[in-house]
Amino acid sequence: MLQDVLRQIEQHQRFVLTSHARPDGDAIGSALACCQVLRAMGKQADVVLHDGVPRIYRSLPFADQVVQSSRVQGSYEAAIILECDSIHRTRLEGLENRFLISIDHHVSGRPFAHVNWIDPHAVATAEMVFRLAREAGVKFSPEIATCLYTALMTDTGSFMFQGTNENTFALARELVLAGADPAHCARGIYFAHSAAKLRLLGEALRNLNQEAHLGWVWITQKQMERCGAKEEDCEGLVNYVLSIGEVEVAAFFRELPDGRYRVSLRSKGKLDVSDVAESFGGGGHQCASGCSVDGPLADAVRQVLSQLRRGPSVQ
Ligand code: 5GP
Repeated sequence: MLQDVLRQIEQHQRFVLTSHARPDGDAIGSALACCQVLRAMGKQADVVLHDGVPRIYRSLPFADQVVQSSRVQGSYEAAIILECDSIHRTRLEGLENRFLISIDHHVSGRPFAHVNWIDPHAVATAEMVFRLAREAGVKFSPEIATCLYTALMTDTGSFMFQGTNENTFALARELVLAGADPAHCARGIYFAHSAAKLRLLGEALRNLNQEAHLGWVWITQKQMERCGAKEEDCEGLVNYVLSIGEVEVAAFFRELPDGRYRVSLRSKGKLDVSDVAESFGGGGHQCASGCSVDGPLADAVRQVLSQLRRGPSVQ
């Protein structure tokens, strides 16, 4: 698998890299690092993202070179799609007729590309990019290490999520030795929010609901407008619900402009939320998944909660 990806990299010269729309830390960090790895291998590489780089990731090395576009143009011979289970989720046009390489660590990862390297045992896609670089003999610059460390830190919930193990810390150690500064990386992510995001958090927590081990909140388009918040400001709000002691599973509903709802699901580990997200056409991991459901709000909440209630009983 890794060898197939390396062989294809050797056989092509010009690459475009991308990930899913509304990119998270692993999507951004892995794409930026992989781009630098390719360049270190003498290849031409660019990162194109439908939504660009969210504010908290803009201080990452080379983030300013990311092209925000809804279309891939140019004479790229191959596309590397990271942390994403379909062309559709990139929301990019112009990928269909290119040679596609997928690198993903999701359990729900599907082989949609010409070459698919899917490893659900990897704690983050960043771990796979790390292995790719090491196998290719690329030296880990402080810039590559910073991007990979940030991806690892965010995708493991600051080394707190299920799945974090001794290998995660061994990888973090390698990255710190290569020049990633943990305090600097953490500061860029956790102390770099907009005031609008905090106002939005206030709105969301006003709508806090709890039923036994389930907790949920929602945000409407009107509330987002009132707070001057953007889509990316909703990122991570679900974790505040999960921080309640009795809550085992948290759900966050965000109204979309078309009246549907984006749902973020988080679990402390006793209930697999990827099953629930997949039952609505979404996906993700056992402890973090997402999907979209039809509105209005009451219907969206009812549908998702009825699936969550079916999960194994929590002691
Ligand atoms: P979030 O709640 O932060 O949007 O997503 C949590 C996790 O679930 C991420 O790993 C994300 O990639 C995955 N995810 C979210 N929405 C979808 C979706 O619609 N389809 C799939 N396949 N995965 C999703």
